[in-house]
Amino acid sequence: MQNKDRVLLITGGSRGIGAATATLAASRGYRVVINYRSQEAAAQSVVDAIRQQGGEALALQADVAREDDVRRLFESIVDHYGRLDALVNNAGILEQQGPLRDMTATRLQRVFDTNILGSFLCAREAVQRMSSREGGEGGAIVNVSSAASRLGSPNEYVDYAASKAAIDTLTIGLAKEVAADGIRVNAVRPGVIYTEIHASGGEPGRVDRVKAQVPMGRGGQPQEVANAILWLLSDEASYITGALIDISGGR
Ligand code: NDP
Repeated sequence: MQNKDRVLLITGGSRGIGAATATLAASRGYRVVINYRSQEAAAQSVVDAIRQQGGEALALQADVAREDDVRRLFESIVDHYGRLDALVNNAGILEQQGPLRDMTATRLQRVFDTNILGSFLCAREAVQRMSSREGGEGGAIVNVSSAASRLGSPNEYVDYAASKAAIDTLTIGLAKEVAADGIRVNAVRPGVIYTEIHASGGEPGRVDRVKAQVPMGRGGQPQEVANAILWLLSDEASYITGALIDISGGR
């Protein structure tokens, strides 16, 4: 199948890695659904930029941590395009940095709800619609994990790191579960990437501080993560499933 017929959902596509992935995917012919939670104007500006380049895109609001929202999101995609071929589980949050002893249960719940529950709910809805055993044509999922899943992020975001380790395990387990449905499931594990997520973590200059620990000596750009995601989604990666790909400058 040509990319131009494929429908791709990117959760959290209004900025950062999600927006870069949406833009690259559209330039390669995908019909792109850009999910956002609150930043409607930002999501619409990504859609407008794609359309100006001759691509096809749509912005749809949904909080991935809410089951009803997720179900509505997937139903809207199938209503609009009649199919779903690919999912990038990208929506994720980082809270203020600090040690576990200072983390409230409310904060832990927020992080796990978006990063883990959201990814699981979206993956569940996607495989139901892609499965070649249930009338779909197969498909591909890329989960956005983090280098934090193996570093642990002590005294910074051990909650976030643990949530990303759960994404790694989802990737490994689900890949085996749905291989016979014609669905591939992989993950990327970015290191430090220049996006706004670090400002929400309380340290806008974090990438520049952490880059001293990166063998390549620099932070990454969203486009560099998007390149790997698009490759994993493509037919060039047709025999790759259950893989966790580090995009971290060697960190
Ligand atoms: P940003 O903060 O720049 O963007 C996050 C996106 O996720 C926004 O579009 C936001 O939309 C959306 N989002 C957040 N919560 C929800 C929700 N509950 N439902 C739907 N959308 C939501 O982050 P990045 O681009 O940096 O991060 C993208 C992914 O990459 C995340 O999973 C992150 O953990 C991961 N990552 C990032 C790294 C980095 O250094 N930047 C390193 C490793 C992993 P809105 O604003 O509308 O809520």
